[in-house]
Amino acid sequence: MQKELLAFIEKFDSVVQPLTKESSLAYWNASISGNEEDWKKSEELTIELTKVFANKEDFAVLKRIKESGTITDEVLKRQLDVLYNAYLGNQVDTTLLNSVISLQTEIEQKYSNFRVDVNGKKITDNEVEDILKTSTNSSELKQVWEGHKAIGPVVALDIISLVKKRNEIASQLGFNNYHEMSLKLSEQDPREISKLFDELDQLTRDSFAGLKSEIDMFLAKRDHVNRDELMPWHYQNRFFQEPPAIYSIDLDKYYNDQDIEALTKDYYTSIGLDINEMLANSDLYEKPGKNQHAYCIDIDNLGDVRVLCNIKSNQNWMGTMLHEFGHANYDKYIDHQLPFTLRNPAHTFTTEAIAMFFGRMSSNAGFLVDMKLAETTDAGKVAAESFKVLRLEQLTFSRWAQVMYRFEKALYENPDQDMNTLWWDLVEKYQMIKHPVNRNEPDWASKIHIATSPCYYHNYLLGELLASQFNHYIAATILKSEDFRQDYYGRKEVGEYLKENVFKPGARYSWNEMIERATSEQLTARYYAEQFVN
Ligand SMILES: [Zn+2]
Repeated sequence: MQKELLAFIEKFDSVVQPLTKESSLAYWNASISGNEEDWKKSEELTIELTKVFANKEDFAVLKRIKESGTITDEVLKRQLDVLYNAYLGNQVDTTLLNSVISLQTEIEQKYSNFRVDVNGKKITDNEVEDILKTSTNSSELKQVWEGHKAIGPVVALDIISLVKKRNEIASQLGFNNYHEMSLKLSEQDPREISKLFDELDQLTRDSFAGLKSEIDMFLAKRDHVNRDELMPWHYQNRFFQEPPAIYSIDLDKYYNDQDIEALTKDYYTSIGLDINEMLANSDLYEKPGKNQHAYCIDIDNLGDVRVLCNIKSNQNWMGTMLHEFGHANYDKYIDHQLPFTLRNPAHTFTTEAIAMFFGRMSSNAGFLVDMKLAETTDAGKVAAESFKVLRLEQLTFSRWAQVMYRFEKALYENPDQDMNTLWWDLVEKYQMIKHPVNRNEPDWASKIHIATSPCYYHNYLLGELLASQFNHYIAATILKSEDFRQDYYGRKEVGEYLKENVFKPGARYSWNEMIERATSEQLTARYYAEQFVN
């Protein structure tokens, strides 16, 4: 069996390694040029790669070896597990799979064609967010908020059919529902994830209630309403996933006219993470036709790592550059001696955690001083203010993520229940905002992720938890300090610790084993609470 598995892996690597590289390069080129030919090439290579994992004979071989239980070598067993999961998710009846893809595409098109209608005038999502942030007129806010929710009835029934089709896929593969399948195939036990979310709910509830009351006081005054009249449209965001701007600090002024690329390089060099070659291979500034967002891509799993950004001199892009080069360092320092299948981060949320850990520095007062962006005399004031903003953002997001996780779980467990009521029950419970009286609309369907990035949202919150756990461990154990708000500038021990304990192992261990080896305990919500809950 061991010999057969080794032969399988050798053949797999010889096909998938070059194909992955070609496909990554094609995607990189397409997202920079934006031209149709490049996109077509990228799409073709993605399909070719997917076909490898859909192969039924190959899966049968893996299944037979796995079920025999005869593989004892740990690294080999780990490769078998990773390969098995990657193939399993693609062992579905092609007709069913294609009907899911086409229904999802149809729904996506409905979202992208939808424009909010305000008194016969069509406005974009950006304009919706602008009005929600700047208007203080309750009836205008209500109208725009309701206008945005009007996408719900357009897509809700389609989403329910899509959910049922996804559940059929899950059932064909032997799972209870698609939510359970998605989590289990990425090595997450739904019971453990729910336990973490419960733990975090308990830890954040009172502190969030306190902040929520500050928010309500601020908004009631601002919008000239009584506190008990505050409705979902008063919270300056379509979903209340980001907090209203209740504090007056402006961090952009510190980054005005600054060279964000040079600051990123200076910072990472100071902690012993060399990003020079990756910077040279990256594409960091705006171009016509280029993807307007930001991402990091590992081209060959052998050190060719690149970042795409569209840098402007402001706090947002400083945070984004630190975030993306967090991902980049993780990829770069994965041990190249590991088998190809294991030359990836332990999980998508573990690389997200590293990116978030560094991204948070852009609002860190120590960072502003060490990077010579703010005067030391300013630091105390900035520290208190910017930390308040970060805490408000974190707690608001964490309560919103609770709604998303619990809603999706219930949706796949029973798509025939009253989803409209369930959504508002969760929003009231976790975000503490009011269900508008007599409103019975599919407001949940206005969140595109439910349709297009199913059962993934919880990973953002797990990333935040782990970022705080790393932060605690590094301060307390590596630096023997009780200061948990450091920026770590100049501390080469920090880079060294991350390289050795987090980056180098790649996917050699399952994510919780890696975390336990690196921080002496499994993933916990405790340090997130320690950092952001008083
Ligand atoms: Zn990221």
